[in-house]
Amino acid sequence: MAIDCIFCKIIKGESPAIFVYKDEYMVVFHNIKPSAPIHVLMVPIEHIESVNSLEERHSEVISKMMLKAKEIARSLGISDSGYKLIINVGRGGGQVVFHLHIHLIGGWEKL
Ligand code: AMP
Ligand code: ZN
Repeated sequence: MAIDCIFCKIIKGESPAIFVYKDEYMVVFHNIKPSAPIHVLMVPIEHIESVNSLEERHSEVISKMMLKAKEIARSLGISDSGYKLIINVGRGGGQVVFHLHIHLIGGWEKL
């Protein structure tokens, strides 16, 4: 856990969030400032700063998150309509919170 990390605070229950899923690897909660009708964040329990900080030992949690993404999408009703999984890496890549997370975004009107 990192001091002053907003996502670590959410994981510890020290800051509020609307959770949609939790297990021993990750939490998933609604983005406070959604950029689509559905916008949740998938966040590993371990404080990993970014994709640039990933190590071999993180293989398990990363694969668990990727496999869970499709389940979360289904549970949110956007599996068939489609969605995006986005990871911003570093300041130049648009990363603002330096605790690795996957944006799961969807729910636009069907074409
Ligand atoms: P990124 O630019 O990839 O680092 O994305 C960080 C995301 O975290 C942004 O979309 C923010 O809206 C979101 N965010 C920041 N603080 C909170 C919070 N307390 N609860 C939920 N989402 C948050
Ligand atoms: Zn953190």
